Amino acid sequence: MRIGFFSDVHSNLEALEACLDDFKREKLSRLFFLGDVVGYGPDPNRCVELVEKRSEIKLLGNHDAAAIGLLSIDFFNQYAQQSMGYTSQVLTEKNLKRLNMYQMEASYDRFKMVHACPKNPSSWGYIFDLEEAEENFKYFEQQVCLIGHSHRPVIIKKYRTNRCEEAAHDFVKLDDDYRYIINIGSVGQPRDGDPRSSYLIYDSESQIVHIKRVEYEFEITQEKMRKVELPRFLVERIAVGK
Ligand code: ZN
Repeated sequence: MRIGFFSDVHSNLEALEACLDDFKREKLSRLFFLGDVVGYGPDPNRCVELVEKRSEIKLLGNHDAAAIGLLSIDFFNQYAQQSMGYTSQVLTEKNLKRLNMYQMEASYDRFKMVHACPKNPSSWGYIFDLEEAEENFKYFEQQVCLIGHSHRPVIIKKYRTNRCEEAAHDFVKLDDDYRYIINIGSVGQPRDGDPRSSYLIYDSESQIVHIKRVEYEFEITQEKMRKVELPRFLVERIAVGK
């Protein structure tokens, strides 16, 4: 069976649709969403509706939490605050109710899933380096923890009691002697210098996980963002993936 994990759509409908098409091409039979369906982009409602329809598990991200009033936007930078103002204005009652059903964490097979970090999912802390990753390995029992949040895809592996290290490639065959923290990247706002959407495929037969990149027409998203007057910084960053 082939399974898809995706995260951080951020109201970017063009990116989400391109990924949904790719999920079909890749013949993925199950889909799991790791959080932040809204925030930053122009199409929160459509994105909530598509994720609702397509993903069997939906995790709550910090932007989703802000949209339903669980997190104060005082914790956000100015651009995130402005986009949350827009998001709150346009989100329908029905979609707010959907966001209210999103979970903080989930597990499936050998995978633990959280939006931010396993140590304390609702603190919304980031795992930016190997030291932070090392600490977080203590806080889940499964072999693999999948995360989003930083929008920077990376595979971190840990051999028994050795210190963890970054994998050399964007794929890895899961090895029983190792544990993993994998950041699956962002569908709607990648920040690793590559503007293409990012998500993770797991093939249960070959035991291989790999980070897949998908091109989409960000110019269309940018045009929509300008129309609804989202901050210029947010408009520009999706073209460069930063
Ligand atoms: Zn995010």
